[in-house]
Amino acid sequence: MSDLVKLTIEGHEVEAPAGTSILEAAKLVGILIPHYCYHPALPVAGSCRMCLVEVEKSPKPQPACATPITPGMVVRVASDVARAARRAVLEFLLINHPLDCPICDQAGECELQDYTHEEGRAAGRYADYPKRYNPVEDFGPDVLYVPNRCILCTRCVRFMENVAQEPTLNVSERGDRARIGVFPGAALDHPWAGNVVDLCPVGSLLSKDFLNKARVWDLDKTASVCGGCTQGCNITLETRDNAVVRVKPRPNMAVNRWFICDEGRLGYAWLNRADRIEAPLVREGGRLVPVEWEVALARAAELVGAGDGPAVGLVSPGASCEALEAAARVLAARGEGSAGAFRVRQGPERPLAGVPDLALRAERAPNVAGALAAGFGRDWDAAVARARAAGLVLVLDESLAGLAEPVTDGALLYIGTVLPETARGAVVILPCTNVAEEEGSFVNLRGLRQRYAQARTPPGMARPAAWILDAILAALPARAARAGGRA
Ligand code: SF4
Ligand code: SF4
Repeated sequence: MSDLVKLTIEGHEVEAPAGTSILEAAKLVGILIPHYCYHPALPVAGSCRMCLVEVEKSPKPQPACATPITPGMVVRVASDVARAARRAVLEFLLINHPLDCPICDQAGECELQDYTHEEGRAAGRYADYPKRYNPVEDFGPDVLYVPNRCILCTRCVRFMENVAQEPTLNVSERGDRARIGVFPGAALDHPWAGNVVDLCPVGSLLSKDFLNKARVWDLDKTASVCGGCTQGCNITLETRDNAVVRVKPRPNMAVNRWFICDEGRLGYAWLNRADRIEAPLVREGGRLVPVEWEVALARAAELVGAGDGPAVGLVSPGASCEALEAAARVLAARGEGSAGAFRVRQGPERPLAGVPDLALRAERAPNVAGALAAGFGRDWDAAVARARAAGLVLVLDESLAGLAEPVTDGALLYIGTVLPETARGAVVILPCTNVAEEEGSFVNLRGLRQRYAQARTPPGMARPAAWILDAILAALPARAARAGGRA
């Protein structure tokens, strides 16, 4: 273990490992020193000078990101000298920065706005700004560049070079003409490229997907886990008027650091689908009829308790652990021989080269480990073949659209968010919530079970699948319910 160094920052005694920067040591006592070019995921550049602080016995203010702590050091963050230095940097940056906040997507989460407000730079001495580039450049599939707003912190350049390890961006030109450029023939189309938009401290790099969609202060933010693959990246679901409009990474050093891939970032449209099942449906005289939950659950329990041979479960590895465990209990309650399987959509693995053990994984579902732990197998084709002749088939949240024909000649109990054509022959159809509309957990590929929270109101009468399956179990005759693990 490295030696600990004692110092004083803004009157607080701090102890941190030797080699720690003043900026990181200050975080330990709850002081955030303003900064632009510094980011803990990137090599230190020390170029923006926004983190200047006063260090006793030092003739000039020092950059906190690039100055390691030393024993007995006394650092002042809010002194007149330190503030004057940072205000001068802000005035310098604002010479070249257009004040187009009212039409900028970054307004409300812009570090130039925040620090200007915090440091008290009320006005500059320049009447106009001289930068006059084309307003917008197309950098890649989801990234736009607005050069006039760029403060040349080079976070985006260093991310592509050191983290994605695919140098795509550079600082083109020099002096007051400097701007970010794309190498000839290259495009910002790396599968993790969208992270440059998060890293940009101002509104210079923008997401095309989010462009002009919402003011950020109108967004509600909910902690969630990405459903895109088995990595289990931590995310924030951002909603407006009950619709998910943006997905952002939520830092977790053990899983995804500060990043998410573009597939996870942009693959949220299905959470807002409008063609949802909104009421429980039961088959009466050849027709599907909407009914109250009590009626539907009683009918579902009747099907499960009927005892005409083992049941087959076809489940989704996108369902929560709670739902999958409850589905396993319902199958057990049906009796011996009942079992289930799942299938996983596959895709190419896309690592983020500079971060160990972080990749868009080949298995594009969040809860493969959870499905296996609940007792479901990967023998999907065999399960589908058995389903044809089974007395009861339980489908949980698994789209049947890929199957050319109805899944069974027996009774189908379908729990899902939408109703594919091939499930229209079901006896009971129960509407469940999607990951944005419920609480639950997924187990990622390293065995880490992670909780997600509810971000939007479910449509109509939809309920979490875990609640539905437990309610079916509760409605079963006592003996069958005991077999399913309910006392
Ligand atoms: S585009 Fe953004 S991240 Fe890149 S150098 Fe400019 S301000 Fe920094
Ligand atoms: S790597 Fe997987 S879990 Fe992470 S953001 Fe991408 S799709 Fe989602």
